[in-house]
Amino acid sequence: MKIILGGVRGTSCIAQADYMKYGGETTSVLVEGDAGERVIIDAGTGIRQLGRRIEAGKVPPSILLLVTHYHLDHIMGLPSLSLLYRGGVKFRVGSVRRNNQSARDVLPQIMAQPFWPVQMEDLQSSFEFIDWPTELSVRPYAFQNLEIRWCSVRHPGGCTAYRIDERSTGKSFVFATDFEWGQSTPAEKQMFIQLCREPGPPGLLVLDGQYTRAQYPQFTGWGHSAWEDCVGIAREARARLLVVTHHAPQNTDNRLEMIESELVQEMPDAKLGRDGMEIAL
Ligand SMILES: [Zn+2]
Ligand SMILES: [Zn+2]
Repeated sequence: MKIILGGVRGTSCIAQADYMKYGGETTSVLVEGDAGERVIIDAGTGIRQLGRRIEAGKVPPSILLLVTHYHLDHIMGLPSLSLLYRGGVKFRVGSVRRNNQSARDVLPQIMAQPFWPVQMEDLQSSFEFIDWPTELSVRPYAFQNLEIRWCSVRHPGGCTAYRIDERSTGKSFVFATDFEWGQSTPAEKQMFIQLCREPGPPGLLVLDGQYTRAQYPQFTGWGHSAWEDCVGIAREARARLLVVTHHAPQNTDNRLEMIESELVQEMPDAKLGRDGMEIAL
């Protein structure tokens, strides 16, 4: 199983020179299973490069798209995904039904008139929506050789963390962006640690660490964690590798380099995510 980070920037995309080392695309992650499975988590602007990567290889007939939540930085890249305009691709879209809405209700709206010239019902690709009614997976959802688990995390309007296990290799990946550890209840924390630990500690944990602990008091309630929280969670979850993502939109490369040097002092193998980063588990 291989994980590719298509975008690691939080809140809004940026394309200025002093942001390009870490990258300016917003959240989108590709999971490549060993048996050819393709799973995309979130459809921020980073989804464009992930789509090109999928098209450069053998395009599978079915791609699973998992949606964490609908803040624009997590869905705004979807209309620009070239795979949408290609026949023969079926997207299965998984989301948790929350506030009486699921991806089935929300995603067509971003391509509706007058926001986009082609509407979802006119695309060459097709969509099948899977609504998960609970905020914690009771049983995993099977996608070919992969198992998908999830739980809700603390964020304004709610957000879903996902876990993907590859049955044939025992590799696992947990992705939690847009969550605020500092405001999470003990029950929410316990649920997330459980997602990380069962059925076993994750090979890779990618977490939202938008702030530093020094900045956090200024942004309490905004729905994001400090990178220092991520270190604590990774230890508790016994994750093999931690990658911190959802970098603050105003953090330049210089600033992120400073944060990364402090991060590796705490946890030598940990990294800040970068656009295009590939991690083979
Ligand atoms: Zn976000
Ligand atoms: Zn958000």
